[in-house]
Amino acid sequence: MSSTLINGKFLASIVKEEIKMEIEELKTKGITPCLAVILVGENRASEKYVSLKEKTCKELGIKSLIFRLPDRTEEEEIINLIDELNRNISINGILVQLPLPRHINQNNILQKIEPIKDVDGFTPYCLGRLLIDNPLFIPCTPKGIIRMIDAYEIETEGKRAVVIGRSIIVGKPLSLLLLRRNATVTLCHSKTERLGEITKNADILCVAIGKPNFITADMVKDGAVIIDIGINVTNYGKVVGDVDFDSVKEKASYITPVPGGVGPMTIAMLMENTLYATKVQKGLS
Ligand code: NDP
Repeated sequence: MSSTLINGKFLASIVKEEIKMEIEELKTKGITPCLAVILVGENRASEKYVSLKEKTCKELGIKSLIFRLPDRTEEEEIINLIDELNRNISINGILVQLPLPRHINQNNILQKIEPIKDVDGFTPYCLGRLLIDNPLFIPCTPKGIIRMIDAYEIETEGKRAVVIGRSIIVGKPLSLLLLRRNATVTLCHSKTERLGEITKNADILCVAIGKPNFITADMVKDGAVIIDIGINVTNYGKVVGDVDFDSVKEKASYITPVPGGVGPMTIAMLMENTLYATKVQKGLS
């Protein structure tokens, strides 16, 4: 069986084109969306993601402000900065790049972001709204995955969806979104027993663990939809996902590549959330 590639890069380019046009329109009204990004400490992967976000903002006409704070920054300093950004009406979206250095309590920080500027959707308010089926901002990676599933008209209702990884960034909100789409969802993690038996029953398998080529063909059902969220850099500097793409693609019906799958859609959704935040704050949505 040969699978259909879910082309996240292409879908993202369409979404970005639409956003760009809307932003041009907003600019005629004197409005320029602005995203503030807080980056604490030195983390090569985070640096890369932030510069990618900065580049995409520029491409689409969104103003971006990057606040780089040293690794030793205290929680209070970050909170003071967030307070300032919350009050600044020229800033529409606030994003704290994760992970934060270990001495900082992530929850203490994220909950300080004003929900209407929470373009990552990680505040307790936004995650709570998602839980009660009334979302405000949906976290970008799961939002992008659902958009890809829709674009390829993949049926979720009544299907068995297995999500591996239970982070608030990916796994938990993705499970909720699949549940909203009437899938029967199983959420797995590092303590899950007999993982292979569970994955083999999945009609839709979403993997977000951060382990290169972890999911092999023998763990996958024939005809399954495979969503690979992992981003791993091998010793040879190659970027690979959590799924052994070459073998699994022979069994899957649909599969996302890494790179070029979930990643580009994540960034596109961040831009979309920033645009939406701007419109709501300006009374246009
Ligand atoms: P976290 O490290 O926060 O979570 C990893 C999850 O995987 C945990 O729930 C952990 O279980 C689970 N896990 C780890 N090992 C196993 C195992 N052997 N079997 C089953 N479950 C396991 O990661 P994130 O959710 O932040 O990210 C996951 C991956 O997705 C990373 O590669 C990251 O780079 C990538 N990513 C990609 C994005 C994109 O845009 N494409 C966006 C965000 C992340 P437990 O809870 O028990 O520890």
